[in-house]
Amino acid sequence: MSYRMEHEAIAAARHAGLFAPVAPHRTGDGHALLTPVLVLNASYEPINVCAARRALVLVLKGVAMTEEENGHFLHSARLAMRVPSVIRLLEYRRIPHQSRALSRKNILLRDRNTCQYCGAVLPSSDLTLDHVLPRSRGGSSTWENLVACCHPCNRRKGNQSPAEAGMRLMREPRAFNLHTSRHIMRLMGRSDDKWRKYLFY
Ligand SMILES: [Zn+2]
Repeated sequence: MSYRMEHEAIAAARHAGLFAPVAPHRTGDGHALLTPVLVLNASYEPINVCAARRALVLVLKGVAMTEEENGHFLHSARLAMRVPSVIRLLEYRRIPHQSRALSRKNILLRDRNTCQYCGAVLPSSDLTLDHVLPRSRGGSSTWENLVACCHPCNRRKGNQSPAEAGMRLMREPRAFNLHTSRHIMRLMGRSDDKWRKYLFY
């Protein structure tokens, strides 16, 4: 669903009185809207994680149904909506086998915001992308040659290969594939028991 469609669905839901605009005194709602929700294909195969806000839009539009609830409510002026924990698409969606787009965000996600040289876990803004084999020496911008790196390690490594700089990668960088996505879903699922039966099979 495009952002515009999502926006329109929310506007329609608001118009129908399903949502009230989030009032400042309703402190709990903003957080509830950002809670991660597991998205299953029609076949029950886990395919994605999204924010509760988007999950509710998919349910309201009749694209998905709620399989599990997280026990919280999203309150509006007229009613309270149960916040989903797991939703399932009603129509099967073919998932392309090609790997995800190469982007800074996805590299940091793959490396779990961890500097691949010193192991520091940092916010995205404190991490840079390091070309394992520097670009100036023919290193390409690929999944296999880009890793999350903190600024001090990046400066220390400079224009050298890890071996030359006496640094070691924590693990071999790989393309972000469905297996990696599932791994991340499992990590996230540890905080939500209701995801377990869909992830650990
Ligand atoms: Zn570092």
